[in-house]
Amino acid sequence: MTEVILHNTLSRSPEPIVPSKGKRIGMYCCGPTVYAQAHIGNFRTFISQDVMRRTLQMAGYDVLHVRNLTDVDDKTIKRSREEGKSLSEVTEYWTEIFHRDCQRFNMLPPKIEPKATDHIQEQIEMISALLEKRHAYQTEDGSVYFKVSSFDEYGRLSRLKERELTTSATDESPNDADEYDRESLADFAMWKSRKSDDGDVYWQSPWGEGRPGWHLECSAMAMKYLGNHLDIHSGGEDLIFPHHENEIAQSECSCDTQFFRYWIHCAHLLVEGGKMSKSLNNFYTIDDIVEKGFAPVVLRYALTSGAYRQTINFTMDSLHAAQSALVRLRHFSNDSLAAAGLKWDSLMKAIQKGKYVNAPWGPFQKAWDTLRTDLNTAGALGGVFSAIKEEYGDSSPSETAIAFHKLIFALGYDLSEVVIEKPKIEAPEEIKELAQARWEAKQSKDWAAADDLRDRVQAKGWKILDRKDGFDLEAI
Ligand code: AMP
Ligand code: ZN
Repeated sequence: MTEVILHNTLSRSPEPIVPSKGKRIGMYCCGPTVYAQAHIGNFRTFISQDVMRRTLQMAGYDVLHVRNLTDVDDKTIKRSREEGKSLSEVTEYWTEIFHRDCQRFNMLPPKIEPKATDHIQEQIEMISALLEKRHAYQTEDGSVYFKVSSFDEYGRLSRLKERELTTSATDESPNDADEYDRESLADFAMWKSRKSDDGDVYWQSPWGEGRPGWHLECSAMAMKYLGNHLDIHSGGEDLIFPHHENEIAQSECSCDTQFFRYWIHCAHLLVEGGKMSKSLNNFYTIDDIVEKGFAPVVLRYALTSGAYRQTINFTMDSLHAAQSALVRLRHFSNDSLAAAGLKWDSLMKAIQKGKYVNAPWGPFQKAWDTLRTDLNTAGALGGVFSAIKEEYGDSSPSETAIAFHKLIFALGYDLSEVVIEKPKIEAPEEIKELAQARWEAKQSKDWAAADDLRDRVQAKGWKILDRKDGFDLEAI
């Protein structure tokens, strides 16, 4: 096994990942809230986690990847009421769309994908244990809150206490919203008693009818599926507080064990320099990008062109740059496969199964070392491009092809989707006429007019490709 280093939010420093048991690494990723289509910012985080899993796999670890589905919370209930549909109708529909999008992004499916609503009993048991240990209390309406002041370590992940917050933990100011921005030490709801707004979304519990709070589901499901492998826990940086802080508090107080040793957080994606929002009209899904003519692999490249801890600014230009970079990678893939007598499909399948884990990295050693050092995708891509420009020294064609495709596997680019040739688009009449006029000017040796017409065609986004007996037009 090769060392993989990741930046741990808990220690604020890079750490080599050491599995708690054997070569298996437990990896819990907070999954989507299935009430709408995930946007490209959400996918930046999910794809980074996919790169993390693939990199650990290439390093020789057996990754037990668990990613939950949040199918009950304030947002899902609100959506089902707005649409007059049952909660499961709404969440099943959006789960299907999420799975379709993950597939289009070439993401490996998690080994286990638990749903919050399938684990109500486990959540109730966790609350009961916390009540028994006096880390929780019940309010008059039948809700149950976690008592923040009962856990000395609260704030360790987000460094809450260091930031000298003025609000102090108090039973008088509990917070029952699933999400809250204020960095307060307010007690948070683990069980929410049934309200009229919840409609028919409720379960029976020892405290009456109600539903679990959002933070609790991840604690209960992570303990159930990864209790023996509490290694990596990850999400977008917005989850550090309060979600992950609350998960740690509930789990450590109920189970008396450290709840995950490595906390990995992905920086946010900005669009055209700003926060993505529906009102600014810069809120994109994969469908919006595909509609503009880009393959999903192009978007995946753009979303991984910066390392996961850097804020990425997404622009349309970044898609054009990604497209040309991928064309270069595709050419190298084709050439190296041909030289080694290998085929894309069978080689990628063998790599995924772990067949070449110990194969040498050859000319891609530097790129791989960069990737396994805190998933520096940007640096690794730089390393790949400089390696493919050079001579390969002692590496054989098959060693070079295998090493290159191992790296492509870790990055998760489906190069077979990359369109090498520019799609032929019919030029508009106006462009054809200008180009024809230029052709005629050229025939009559009026070079100045011919140049002027060519510039005008170019300014309108078209390039004239001369042939002996005429010309072709290509979109720039
Ligand atoms: P949600 O479905 O809202 O629970 O979010 C799913 C994941 O996407 C979480 O890990 C979030 O932290 C992450 N996320 C949300 N917005 C962004 C963004 N703009 N950039 C990157 N990740 C994000
Ligand atoms: Zn979570």
